[in-house]
Amino acid sequence: MASQTDGLSSAWGPRTEGLRTLPATKRWTRRDIGRLAAAMTLFAPHVARGQNRARVVVIGGGIGGATLARCLAAGGTLDITIIEPKSAYTTCFFSNLYLGGLLSFAQLIHTYDALARRPGVTIIRDFATMIDPAARIVRLRGGATLPYDRLAVTTGATIRDGTIEGYDAAAMQVMPHAWKAGEQTLTLRRQLESMPDGGLFVMAAPPDPFPCPPAPYERVSLIAAYFKQYKPRSKIIVLDAKDTFVGEDLFQDAWNRYYPDMIEWLPAQWIGGIKAVEPGTLTVLTENDHFKAAVVNVIPAHRAADPALQAGLADASSWCPVDPVTFESRLQAGIHLVGDAIIGGDMPKTAFAANSQAQACAVAIAAILAGKVPAKPPLANTCYVHVAADDAWRNAAQFEPVAGRIKSLYADVSRVNDTPETRREIVRQAASWYEKFTNDLFG
Ligand SMILES: Cc1cc2nc3c(=O)[nH]c(=O)nc-3n(C[C@H](O)[C@H](O)[C@H](O)COP(=O)(O)OP(=O)(O)OC[C@H]3O[C@@H](n4cnc5c(N)ncnc54)[C@H](O)[C@@H]3O)c2cc1C
Repeated sequence: MASQTDGLSSAWGPRTEGLRTLPATKRWTRRDIGRLAAAMTLFAPHVARGQNRARVVVIGGGIGGATLARCLAAGGTLDITIIEPKSAYTTCFFSNLYLGGLLSFAQLIHTYDALARRPGVTIIRDFATMIDPAARIVRLRGGATLPYDRLAVTTGATIRDGTIEGYDAAAMQVMPHAWKAGEQTLTLRRQLESMPDGGLFVMAAPPDPFPCPPAPYERVSLIAAYFKQYKPRSKIIVLDAKDTFVGEDLFQDAWNRYYPDMIEWLPAQWIGGIKAVEPGTLTVLTENDHFKAAVVNVIPAHRAADPALQAGLADASSWCPVDPVTFESRLQAGIHLVGDAIIGGDMPKTAFAANSQAQACAVAIAAILAGKVPAKPPLANTCYVHVAADDAWRNAAQFEPVAGRIKSLYADVSRVNDTPETRREIVRQAASWYEKFTNDLFG
């Protein structure tokens, strides 16, 4: 599908989506970024003397990194190097639809071929092992050292080790988290397919913050939809590390309507927290009980991924504080972060949010390199959340930086009493969002 947007407006979506109307706010255009990038002339204030073009290195070719590179390339005046170990990007978003049998795995995979053809963009297939903020260099596993004028670290979040006793690398093979799309997702789907009718599926849901707050419950909904069709005597228990979760009323309503008596959600205050796992017996131990299942999906606590921690970009929370206008680290000058790794204030950790932050960050980098003061950015997020094959709800929100923090401006959330046609319309919007969003970045 041809892109009309150059990866820019997808963070906003249409103003009116066949539902309620969002208030109009400023949005970035391709021209905004192109104009700023074009202003970066030879010997611009922040480019080393004797160097023709400013060098921006982007660690991580996920949603934040791909958006940044895509936007910065629009100006045609920068050297942009993306460091990414994988040959293709597999989206975590919509991986729950694969687990529910609604999409093929191949539909989640997007190659870097088109991004690599953007002006000024080079993709190095390697892993960043070390950042030296003082020397302004990045070291790669393959041995190379890359100098930069501006660095973006967009390596996302990862599992925090040691929060659930016994949940080590070997246990992950047996009780997959499937919170990184790839082999883990395939393993979980295979386990669901081979589970007998009447089996028990147990999910250990994570504490906040973690990528995509509604996703554990969307996963439960779509696995229930699969069970309802193929293994109707099966049961699902969610052992939660929290006492509430995002969209609880919408999920509980859907579970009662579509999957009565199939799903039991147990909050932390009832179970006393998730303490340990026994992979050998497929058992999850809580403070007060133990749960032996046919398939176990353990999603532990998260933290910012390693390069950010190693470079001193994270605070004691293991997440990275940033300036919400420039997305420059509050701890290391010259390094920007967007996406799952940051302390995002009211913004959740989603692909939509990472894309919106990366657009703002690209404008800020272009402005800084041109010796200008970055403007306050518009920021947005929309979550489309499936509860059945033809029923989804959404939360469309807008944000802005206020006193050094990202604050919520406005949110439009689906309601329990929405009509079935409204919900079907959101399913259609979600599908077209996915196609356009991934095509803008990787197509
Ligand atoms: C099950 C699930 C469902 C979800 N559903 C949705 C949804 O419906 N909508 C939505 O908006 N969001 C959803 N999300 C969240 C979304 O996937 C993330 O918020 C988004 O991918 C974050 O983007 P990012 O750029 O921060 O990180 P990522 O997209 O995770 O990219 C990080 C990249 O960095 C690379 N990397 C890591 N370490 C290094 C290194 N040392 N050197 C070089 N590269 C490195 C990785 O290979 C990866 O490509 C979902 C997440 C999950 C788990």
